[in-house]
Amino acid sequence: MTARVIDGTAVARRVREDVGRGVAQLVAAGGRAPGLATVLVGDDPASEVYVRNKRRLCVAAGMQDLHRHLPGDVDQASAAALVDELAADPQVSGILLQLPTPRHLDSDALIARIPAEKDVDGLTTANAGLLAQGRPGLRPCTPAGVMALLDEYDVPLAGAEAVVVGRSVLVGKPMAQLLLARHATVTVCHSRTRDLPEVCRRADVLVVAAGIRGLVGRDAVKAGATVIDVGIHRGDDGLVGDVESDAVAEVAGALTPVPGGVGPMTIAMLLANTLTAARVQQGLAD
Ligand code: ADP
Repeated sequence: MTARVIDGTAVARRVREDVGRGVAQLVAAGGRAPGLATVLVGDDPASEVYVRNKRRLCVAAGMQDLHRHLPGDVDQASAAALVDELAADPQVSGILLQLPTPRHLDSDALIARIPAEKDVDGLTTANAGLLAQGRPGLRPCTPAGVMALLDEYDVPLAGAEAVVVGRSVLVGKPMAQLLLARHATVTVCHSRTRDLPEVCRRADVLVVAAGIRGLVGRDAVKAGATVIDVGIHRGDDGLVGDVESDAVAEVAGALTPVPGGVGPMTIAMLLANTLTAARVQQGLAD
């Protein structure tokens, strides 16, 4: 058996096109084009690439690019003042603080200043709480992108065994909540899990977000399972994920490639969140 390839690049393109149409409708209805304020502190090359891609696709979807760049040695008070300025600016629909910030800054304290309705990364305690309670709110982009892929490929979730590897605030925890909200039976694994392959073998849907190259091999995958690889690592041989893809593809029913799986979905969902935020702020939510 060779796993079906889950084409994140194609699904992300469709999501971005839908967002572009939604932006055009908002403007045609007399609303303001959504504005995304990406905030980059310092000049880490990887963060610069991520922010550049977000800005480019934001403009391509017809939104305003309201990017702000702060020097790497900016103090906490000045960074907080910028977040407050963006929070008060009606042109700004969404605020995205690119992580990680330089070590001398308290990024949690900066995120806490982002109003929940502009928190397009879904990282404030308010949005995390809404998700935990199953109420509407802005969802973290990577797990939201995984859900969009599962839905696009009609992967059954109600009653399914779902295993999430990783419990980070950014991916693992919200991922588990989103699967739970769709009535999956969810197990969360982490660095202290006693027998990772044994737990993973239960999964009909296996989402791997541990940040460890090749952590999940063939022995951890049930025949026919849907495997979502959130990991991304730069190796000598290009980008690879947390899943040993060649071996797992022989047993899985469907598998996301790296690159071209979850990665492109993250930015697409950021744009979708920014449109949602703008609609809510302008009183045009459907
Ligand atoms: P991400 O950005 O993908 O969320 P992080 O590096 O922030 O990744 O978090 C890694 C997560 O993976 C942590 O929750 C950690 O407990 C989990 N993890 C780390 N090592 C293992 C392991 N060997 N088995 C299972 N989970 C692990």
